[in-house]
Amino acid sequence: MTSTLTLQDWQARASKLKPSTQAIIDGRTHAGCGAPLDAVNPATGRTLAQVASCDEHDIDQAVRAARRAFESGVWSGMPRAERKKRLLKLAELITLHAEELALIETLDMGKPISDTLGYDIPEAARTYAWYAETIDKQYDEIAPTDAHALATITREPLGVIAAVVPWNYPLLMATWKVAPALAMGNSVVLKPAEQSCLSAIRLGELALEAGIPPGVLNIVPGTGPVAGQALGLHPDVDCLAFTGSTATGKRFMQYSGQSNLKQIWLECGGKSPHIIFDDCPDLDRAALAAAIGIFNNQGEVCIAGSRLYVQSGIYDEFMRKLERHAAAMQPGDPLDPNAKMGAIVDERQLARVLQYVDSGKREGATLRVGGGQVRSETGGYYVEPTIFECGTQSLTIVREEIFGPVLAASRFDTEEEALAQANASIYGLGSGLWTADLSRAHRVSRRLRAGLVWVNCYFDGDVTVPFGGVKQSGFGRDKSLHALDKYSSLKTTWISLG
Ligand code: NAD
Repeated sequence: MTSTLTLQDWQARASKLKPSTQAIIDGRTHAGCGAPLDAVNPATGRTLAQVASCDEHDIDQAVRAARRAFESGVWSGMPRAERKKRLLKLAELITLHAEELALIETLDMGKPISDTLGYDIPEAARTYAWYAETIDKQYDEIAPTDAHALATITREPLGVIAAVVPWNYPLLMATWKVAPALAMGNSVVLKPAEQSCLSAIRLGELALEAGIPPGVLNIVPGTGPVAGQALGLHPDVDCLAFTGSTATGKRFMQYSGQSNLKQIWLECGGKSPHIIFDDCPDLDRAALAAAIGIFNNQGEVCIAGSRLYVQSGIYDEFMRKLERHAAAMQPGDPLDPNAKMGAIVDERQLARVLQYVDSGKREGATLRVGGGQVRSETGGYYVEPTIFECGTQSLTIVREEIFGPVLAASRFDTEEEALAQANASIYGLGSGLWTADLSRAHRVSRRLRAGLVWVNCYFDGDVTVPFGGVKQSGFGRDKSLHALDKYSSLKTTWISLG
């Protein structure tokens, strides 16, 4: 989606924006019993609005509303054609409100308006439309039993799904859970991250406008340790779909064990390797992909190609090209349609990123470009594109997820060495490799321990393909038809014909 709006147009719209700030439970706005959350604009450090914060009591109300809606059959029992129509309507409303949603997302989270308008919002709309289309195309199975019986295998919704999501793609990460969960006929309680609640609240309003019945999609802004934990421990949540850090993912496994053994699906952190072999078919394209792979979305991307491995023969040439792209991606005002990078989500994350930069310097990595906070006169939280050259893989910046625009680059000599370095991580989410050798492309792809492998590209994707990781990046897949498995269970019905 493109727009002719200028920086001044967006600023004028921003000054008039009055975002909705209440929770939505059972189709009604709800103040929340916790101390309100500040929605801070990361581009300026100024508070945009105060947002309701749900406590355990509010969460319980939301889960009860979701359960009532589910048991009543108002959504799960709705004729499929009608359910599909309403989810398609939601997609249409998102498209209709794309500029407003893009503005909300950019102001709340700090990412460039060209990204929210060009990717986050249209991709969310497409995801609802795509899952809506699955609703009347799902068939059940008859098992190949002996003739004396008929055994059917039917797919059923689980009931109440809780979704707990992060702040880096607020609407889209929520959508990857909510769309397939609703398509299967479940009720949902969605908790956005405390840094970025506004688009989720607007989503809840649009869902009601689209005819999704009250109680079917509840929006509960709140903090992780209160609202998130209350969902994790709630005895009447059937399944909890989480995207966020590995540390929090581990907590959800515990919450499940401590409560009702609810299903847990985890999309967690990453430290994805991006390998450039010396037979790379197009060094310029690979250098641009490596830059976008780490600096896009301010580096706040779970699949960011944050570990770069370049074969020795092309290392110097590649790094020169990469540095030129890094220089062209300096952060700017997120409302400027030409900004390539925006602001880091909040002051805490800014401090975290800068601490990692310090640790890189302290532990002996060579800082090739960047490393500093910029635009501090705006009051916002900006970090310039940063590239470290790393002599050893034991550095903290090579091992740990930074979630900021900081790249750890290393050189390698052989394919074995590249694979060993790439796989030496607790994470296994994204990975990329560039080579002109077809056999090598297959060979290396097979041996990379990751949920996603890109060959001669990076970040490409579509709602049609599964997204998720292995190792401590989590388990279960968002997107594609496979995501429906997470929000349904299989029932076997054995009918004796004797
Ligand atoms: P986070 O784990 O701090 O928070 C994620 C969500 O969990 C938020 O809604 C938060 O309120 C909640 N939460 C936090 N502490 C909690 C607790 N004690 N109990 C219950 N809920 C709690 O993560 P973040 O900082 O918001 O997001 C960044 C992380 O998300 C990174 O690690 C990134 O890699 C990961 N991520 C993964 C994917 C993926 O698809 N694998 C996509 C985007 C982001």
